[in-house]
Amino acid sequence: METSIQKLLRRNIASFKAYSSARQEFDGKGMIFLDANENPNENGVNRYPDPQQEQLKKLLSLKNEVSAEQIVVGNGSDEILDLIIRAFVSPGKEGMISLKPSYGMYKVLAELNDVFLDEIPFEEDFEINIENLLDAVRPETKLMLLCSPNNPTGKSLSLEQIENLLDRFQGIVVVDEAYIDFSNSPSAVSILRSQPRLIVCQTLSKAYAMAGLRVGYAMASPQITRVLNAIKPPYNVNTLSQEKAIELLRDKETFEAQLEQSNTERGFLLKALKYVPIVKKVYPSEANFILFEVDNADLRYKQLKSKGIVVRNRNKDFGCKNCLRLSVGLPEQNIKFIKTLNSLK
Ligand SMILES: *Cc1c(COP(=O)(O)O)cnc(C)c1O
Repeated sequence: METSIQKLLRRNIASFKAYSSARQEFDGKGMIFLDANENPNENGVNRYPDPQQEQLKKLLSLKNEVSAEQIVVGNGSDEILDLIIRAFVSPGKEGMISLKPSYGMYKVLAELNDVFLDEIPFEEDFEINIENLLDAVRPETKLMLLCSPNNPTGKSLSLEQIENLLDRFQGIVVVDEAYIDFSNSPSAVSILRSQPRLIVCQTLSKAYAMAGLRVGYAMASPQITRVLNAIKPPYNVNTLSQEKAIELLRDKETFEAQLEQSNTERGFLLKALKYVPIVKKVYPSEANFILFEVDNADLRYKQLKSKGIVVRNRNKDFGCKNCLRLSVGLPEQNIKFIKTLNSLK
């Protein structure tokens, strides 16, 4: 098992020696720290942050029922995705496969890293075609990027589909679960134990209401997390973000209440949208957004903006002609949105 992951790594990474930061070599309490060239005047942020985010990882490990050593924390899950590519996919020759339409950052990260990204279209109603996806895998395809629930379609993959793909694709499979909290579908974390090539990414940016903190994390087998933790920038999550994330994660009641409200509001919007004359189709959603088709997305997008409401125009995305993506707002915002959409001429 160890060797199979080892073989999938970029060659330079397989033999990589991590930078050993001062705080990593020594973080004992009650010591006089004269080792990191910090300003010794304590103000709450004069010290470097914990490079391994131990307290935060402890909370995340309890929440997800994985061990702390199976977690990598990043400056947003976008950083985690970048780290995964830099660990496994060699520039100039290797690449990744994903589905379209999906999260736009995959393409950006592929280009930045000079690796290819083959994007395989979803079928009708954004259903995955597993055979097409596997047929498009090349010998140089190292990584499969799956987003579930998918942005911008709102549809999830089942665990059976993910397991099927892991059985038949021999590279690393990443399941991006940025929206998993809003869904009733089970998280792929539940199959991590039996899947050493699986990486599950989650984030505090969406359901946990901390987009401004930039905290995302991956969960995977220790063979994988050991590598990702070694190659990440040593102090990638700053002190204030770690502290605030710990504080907010402990407030489970607020999280539960907001999640319930979001899902209730999603239900309201899904129904209400169907009665708006300019709306042609509403896609079901397991996330905190709704993709819907209108008569003319560019026009309606502009009209909404002129009335002070900003949605995402997905008209140019594959399979999303004349589609807008609406994030679920507060109850009064959602009512205002529906009223405004109804008033457009
Ligand atoms: C929002 C989003 C992310 C980004 O998460 P950050 O932790 O804020 O970087 C990742 N993946 C998908 C699919 C998203 O929609």
